[in-house]
Amino acid sequence: MIKIKNLSKIYTNGRNQVVALKDISLNINQGDIYGIIGLSGAGKSSLIRCINRLEEPTSGDIFVNSINLMTLKNSELRNARKKIGMIFQNFNLLHSKNVFENIAFPLRLVKTPKKIIKEKVNHLLELVELSDKAHVYPSQLSGGQKQRVGIARALANEPDVLLCDEATSALDPKTTKQILTLLKNINKEFGLTIVVITHEMEVIKEICNRVAILEGGCLIEEGSTIDIFSKP
Ligand code: ADP
Ligand code: ADP
Repeated sequence: MIKIKNLSKIYTNGRNQVVALKDISLNINQGDIYGIIGLSGAGKSSLIRCINRLEEPTSGDIFVNSINLMTLKNSELRNARKKIGMIFQNFNLLHSKNVFENIAFPLRLVKTPKKIIKEKVNHLLELVELSDKAHVYPSQLSGGQKQRVGIARALANEPDVLLCDEATSALDPKTTKQILTLLKNINKEFGLTIVVITHEMEVIKEICNRVAILEGGCLIEEGSTIDIFSKP
């Protein structure tokens, strides 16, 4: 489903170069909840942002559903990205729009008919249990509620993949559990492939079937969560 081949990322600021990712290759299968863990600075964020080319890789290939994103023109990339939803640590909600309009936003961008927007958003509000908050603004929501809006918005265009960039790092342990349970249910119900990056081991253990460990931009271990964590 996602195939990353020999991916490298070097940031260049003037004369300084930072090698953030070194020759990473990994495969993520349809229906996986795939965890990428590592310390701060290990390259997790660079890696997840390369998967939808929010960050431009320096070299390598990224296949999503057998399409090599590196060969796409901008217009084609925009289309491919509709199938790749993303949620963020700081939620990235639009503060001037209410919950309904935040979730509707990606649908309006692709000119979805009004009637269908209403149906879809109401259905998504039910899914994330926020039907009673449709007309509330983000500033009036708790962190967990904001992330549920983020998840609903990411699902609006019915993606095949959901990328989660430290999605629970700003949340307390109880709220984290609730969000992880929601992600697990979405994975089960829709067969959606989920990629999570986190520095929290508990998050990986709670939901991921496979895990990759990054250290200094290198992939140092990869395998099923049970195998990785049962090693002596
Ligand atoms: P993580 O998400 O694991 O904390 P990052 O991918 O954010 O790691 O960072 C990996 C390395 O790349 C770090 O050394 C970081 O300082 C560097 N880096 C990240 N973004 C940039 C950037 N825009 N310019 C220069 N260096 C960067
Ligand atoms: P465009 O192709 O529309 O110019 P950009 O690549 O400039 O888009 O991205 C603009 C912003 O939109 C990014 O900084 C990011 O926050 C958001 N974005 C882009 N693609 C996605 C995605 N697949 N999921 C979530 N947010 C995205």
